[in-house]
Amino acid sequence: MNLRPHHILCIQKFTGHGYNADFTTHMKSIVSELADDPKTKINVVHGCDALCEMCPNNICGVCTSLEKVDLIDNSVLNVCNIDYGETAPWTYFANKMRKQIFETVEFNNICTCCQWFELCRSTEVYYE
Ligand code: SF4
Ligand code: SF4
Repeated sequence: MNLRPHHILCIQKFTGHGYNADFTTHMKSIVSELADDPKTKINVVHGCDALCEMCPNNICGVCTSLEKVDLIDNSVLNVCNIDYGETAPWTYFANKMRKQIFETVEFNNICTCCQWFELCRSTEVYYE
């Protein structure tokens, strides 16, 4: 599954909210897929990914908030010492980001500019 870096965070904090019904239904199916098979191979990609597929902000394969999401993606990569193009099982990336971002001050540093931050801040992560 192709995922942009910060979506590995968002998936862990998903509580059923999203940009619209189609997006939310699609995200729910991705969250279920990863919960059913935590060893799913993740490719860390630059640009639109599996989650962006049904997003109303995805215009012809380009995010309308590209500048902001690129900034968040780069921060995630820097903090976790990951590069675009890396592949690993879902649990590897999920656990790494949980430990190095959700459980540290980096969560505030990276996510505070996101519209979902307050919701995510009060949501426990799903994966161990
Ligand atoms: S605050 Fe935004 S970027 Fe951070 S995990 Fe939540 S939805 Fe994703
Ligand atoms: S298109 Fe942009 S706003 Fe939509 S899910 Fe992808 S990165 Fe997020």
